[in-house]
Amino acid sequence: MASNSYMGIPREKIPWYPAVDENACTKCSTCLDFCANDVFEQGEGSVEVVRPYNCVVGCSSCQNVCPSGAIRFPDMRQFVETLKKLREEYRNK
Ligand code: SF4
Ligand code: SF4
Repeated sequence: MASNSYMGIPREKIPWYPAVDENACTKCSTCLDFCANDVFEQGEGSVEVVRPYNCVVGCSSCQNVCPSGAIRFPDMRQFVETLKKLREEYRNK
């Protein structure tokens, strides 16, 4: 049994979390301070996503606060399709 799940799907199976463009990131720490879920940590060249599955499924708030446009999320329409398939897969598990 997974310790962390969403709609009955193990969180680790759900591909929803931010990606940081290390060339665009200025290490300003805004996302670090903003996210309450410890998803980010300061890395050498940029902020790094160290706990991706702490990210709240469907949340993309940090993308809006990054002043450099360095944070990206999966395409929402494609993600919804992926989530539908996962729900089917895990429906009776
Ligand atoms: S808010 Fe954007 S620019 Fe600032 S540390 Fe986070 S990813 Fe980098
Ligand atoms: S999307 Fe929300 S939960 Fe996920 S890393 Fe950004 S602020 Fe944190």
